[in-house]
Amino acid sequence: MPAFASSGDLEEKQQTLEIVGDGVYALTAEGDPNVGAIEADDFLVCFEAMATPTAARQWLARLREHTDKPIRYLVLSHYHAVRVLGASAFGADVIVSHANTRALIEERGQQDWESEYGRMPRLFKDPGSIPGLTLPTLTFTDRLAIDLGGGRFLELHHLGRGHTEGDIVAWLPDERILFAGDLVEARAALYTGDAFHREWSTTTLDRVAALGARTLIGGRGAVTREVGAAIGQTRDFLEVMLREVGAAHGRGGTLKEAFDAAHAALAPRYGGWPIFEHCLPFNVSRLWDELDGVERPVIWTAERDRAVWDLLQS
Ligand SMILES: [Zn+2]
Repeated sequence: MPAFASSGDLEEKQQTLEIVGDGVYALTAEGDPNVGAIEADDFLVCFEAMATPTAARQWLARLREHTDKPIRYLVLSHYHAVRVLGASAFGADVIVSHANTRALIEERGQQDWESEYGRMPRLFKDPGSIPGLTLPTLTFTDRLAIDLGGGRFLELHHLGRGHTEGDIVAWLPDERILFAGDLVEARAALYTGDAFHREWSTTTLDRVAALGARTLIGGRGAVTREVGAAIGQTRDFLEVMLREVGAAHGRGGTLKEAFDAAHAALAPRYGGWPIFEHCLPFNVSRLWDELDGVERPVIWTAERDRAVWDLLQS
């Protein structure tokens, strides 16, 4: 049996800081979670917080080579532990998320922390530096605009349920730069263990595409200017899962049969992408629940992770 999830993935990834627009920064890392920052006239907006304060401080040290403006806003695209638990390092005045993200952190943040730590320990640099769960201090449900000064605005949009039930994107309409969170991945596998596959693959991605971004920073993978291709790959991954898992489910097959069919259909195109093997058991399990009519994703715990892994990746 392969090593559980990404527990065998211990090789440090190369981080790349890219200036994607005037005062707009993206740190990507070969498929590890991406982060970003946007300069306003007299403050900074940071996007995503990394898995621990120690990991976040390494990112902030690189950002500080370019700007010493204070961090007023920390924007969290969704509730997953590897994106939020570094929040305390930012010293932000305001931590912004969707209202559902705050509710999810309160409901299942502790279990998600333990689950993700077990799945991908490498991302949790100095786990003892995490002071506890992150609670956003400003929430919204549809749209929030941050005035950057000089007539520029950063728009935060909830475009529907997708990767979770509280995803938001950060959009710079003048520069046409989009921080998409995990709603779009650029040549990295999708994690859909807490997803709403049908909504994500249709109306939510339609709305992402309709923004008309020229530069996209996905949740994982390199900065891309081939925005349509990245959205298309994300949609295709979801559609293949829906087709294969849906067929097995519809004919009264087993979860294992659904997993094997989805794996066989996805692997030729996506099997070499980061976290493909890690994610697929959890993805298929959630989609199976969704097809069973389970509206909200079942909470992942460290124990449930192992049980699903042992059942499907054996
Ligand atoms: Zn996520």
